[in-house]
Amino acid sequence: MAAKKLFPPGQPRDRHYLLEGVGQVSNVPAWQEGLELEVLSNVDLDGPKFLSGKYEVSFVKNIEKKTRACVESLNYDDWESAVFLEHEKMLTHGYQIRLAVFKWLLMGLVGVSTAIVGAIAHMLIHTIVDFKFSLIKTYVDFCMVDQCMFWLPPLIWILFNCTFVFVASWFTTFVEPATSGSGIPPVKCYLNGIKMPGFVRIRTLFIKVLGIVCSVSGGLAVGKEGPMIHTGAIVASGIAQGLGMRRGSLKGYMDSLRDDKNRREFVAAGGAAGVASAFGTPLGGVLFSIEEGISWWNPTLVWQIFLCAMLAALFLHNLLSLYITKKWQKVMEAVGVAAVTALVGYGLSYSVNICYTSQQPADNFVPSVGKLNSENGSASVPENLVKLDDLTSGHASPYAQMFCPNGSYNAIAAMFFQSAEENVNHWQHGHMGSQFQVGSSFLPSSLVQSGGDLLELGHGKMFFPGKYSLIGAAAHLGGVVRMTLSLTLILVEATSNVKFGLPIMLTLMVAKIVGDHFNKGIYDLHIELEGVPVLNWSPPALLHCVKSRHVMSKPVVTLPPVVKLSNLVETLATCSHHGFPVVEPGTKGLFGKFLGLISWSQLLVLMQKKAFREVMEEGAHLPLSVFKDAYPCHGTVDVGYAFKDFWRHFSHVFISFQKRMFSSKELSYTLDLQPYLNPAPNTVSPEESFPRAYQLFRGLGLRHLVVIDSSQVVGMITRKDLARVTPRMDKGNAPVPKKQ
Ligand code: ATP
Repeated sequence: MAAKKLFPPGQPRDRHYLLEGVGQVSNVPAWQEGLELEVLSNVDLDGPKFLSGKYEVSFVKNIEKKTRACVESLNYDDWESAVFLEHEKMLTHGYQIRLAVFKWLLMGLVGVSTAIVGAIAHMLIHTIVDFKFSLIKTYVDFCMVDQCMFWLPPLIWILFNCTFVFVASWFTTFVEPATSGSGIPPVKCYLNGIKMPGFVRIRTLFIKVLGIVCSVSGGLAVGKEGPMIHTGAIVASGIAQGLGMRRGSLKGYMDSLRDDKNRREFVAAGGAAGVASAFGTPLGGVLFSIEEGISWWNPTLVWQIFLCAMLAALFLHNLLSLYITKKWQKVMEAVGVAAVTALVGYGLSYSVNICYTSQQPADNFVPSVGKLNSENGSASVPENLVKLDDLTSGHASPYAQMFCPNGSYNAIAAMFFQSAEENVNHWQHGHMGSQFQVGSSFLPSSLVQSGGDLLELGHGKMFFPGKYSLIGAAAHLGGVVRMTLSLTLILVEATSNVKFGLPIMLTLMVAKIVGDHFNKGIYDLHIELEGVPVLNWSPPALLHCVKSRHVMSKPVVTLPPVVKLSNLVETLATCSHHGFPVVEPGTKGLFGKFLGLISWSQLLVLMQKKAFREVMEEGAHLPLSVFKDAYPCHGTVDVGYAFKDFWRHFSHVFISFQKRMFSSKELSYTLDLQPYLNPAPNTVSPEESFPRAYQLFRGLGLRHLVVIDSSQVVGMITRKDLARVTPRMDKGNAPVPKKQ
């Protein structure tokens, strides 16, 4: 079939815009230039597309539209510049061993620190929730006896909740929007190689903790596992950057770990520690990190993450047990971590009003409905009710009685007032008549399932309802989040019963398969809505006929090995790329020899430090430590040393370099890029198939893939180019290629 041009080219294909001899300032993805494709669609839909075999391949435009301004990628590839090699020559094997030990210690520190943050959040929530329900109970008791001011308890409840939720939502919306949502999608993105703006800042940590404390205390039906994972990731990222530790003999070790690759490993460990401290499930935490994104891992890294998660679970447990020594503290723990919407809870507790006893044999269980005595407002006590004992502590629960007679408790209220972990933990021990048959899971979505169980129990008999509730909640949760490995382990560890492993695993697998048939999981949907170009483990199938030249951007913005400052400033001002091939000057609009790749962040440091050839000694260059100092907030305002790192994390005041920031003399100076560039970045040929380029990019965690043809730079591929390519196989309306 004869190829035809579907999209008329706006410019000649091999045009080059040269700006003051520096580089080209305009780039157009190849697909926008009307490439000649082997098999073409003659249907003009919303984006460029063509047929690959029988599938329609489209280049989705809007991926870039939303993300370009704010989303940056991370680079997990080694940057073997001359400066780096010079630094490496000074290191000894002894140093490498000490560095490895140091990294293990830091991983442990991440676990302990995450546990401390988790414990603080736990304690605050317990204290506030305890105070809230003590207050409400006082008024409920008062009104039940005196029949006065019946509107007062719900009013207090509403005011309490609204105040806390207002604080949480205000800080989240106006101060740090990066804290909105569960926190799991940005962790997934980070592990995939994308840095979401503001995601790992210290300010984000404070507001995340404040947000979760206030929203749970304010009665919102939110789980704390997502925020704990996010919190762990921030703590880990901060520790990996050596916040507050880059002094004295530690500085050298900390600097060695200050790069995207190490930081990603710490973030993975932090996420695992977050899971471990949310549920006390270290193995589940490790699997979460592996399942949710580490594209590159090895046994050492898995062990380090395991250590981190173990310490987090252990420390949190110990911290909370030390906590729990006094009676009032035990009462607070019994109240639980999670509280759902107050008004609904209050209304349901009153209107449904199912009263249970805890000691009835399962087979004889009959729910009894307590009624307020209309004459004196007190509750009548049915004869079959025995004294209420808490299953675990043996003490009467002061919270669950609500509108039920003495000696019984309110099942709906129990569901709301019990902590999520305790509910999960007790499902396996649950029997008829115990409050644990109606527990909620760690995500509010599971509450739906458990609520269904509760209603069912109200009408008939069922054996082992707690266990079915657990399976039901697992199915529902698995259908929502689509996690299999880690969720199985989290639930098995949380219930301390390995016998549940197989049924839970099968349930989660079925939930995932069925769910995937209809749509993506909730975290992936969030990521998609944000327009973040996450790359899946493997490229879309059946696309070997798509070549690198189809997806690359061109012409490429390049820089010469020695660049004039005025030209550099102008180039950076006119494009937003973060990587530039360095090429020798060419002739007739063609590039010269490809020398390597220089990153945007390096250029900022060179400009900020004014490392001009004209003012430096012959052959001198900036040492690696200068770039380590600037990491990861290159180009931010430099403030006093002591608070520099902390300040950057709070403020992120970026300098945008403009010509007026330099004197006219400086603008005529030049920067020598050769000592800093990576001379051997990964490259592909234009004929390399799209799946191979994708696997190279995804597998090695690259940020830029330069397309080289006969030593000539001809294109650039970033994750946005790869994420654009999507086959649409399910529509059934893909145009059929014309017959030859
Ligand atoms: P990332 O956003 O992944 O951190 P980046 O910022 O360098 O990397 P973008 O500028 O966001 O990349 O990429 C947008 C488009 O620009 C992509 O299609 C990419 O191929 C292209 N691109 C990136 N660098 C260059 C360059 N030096 N010259 C020409 N096009 C480029």
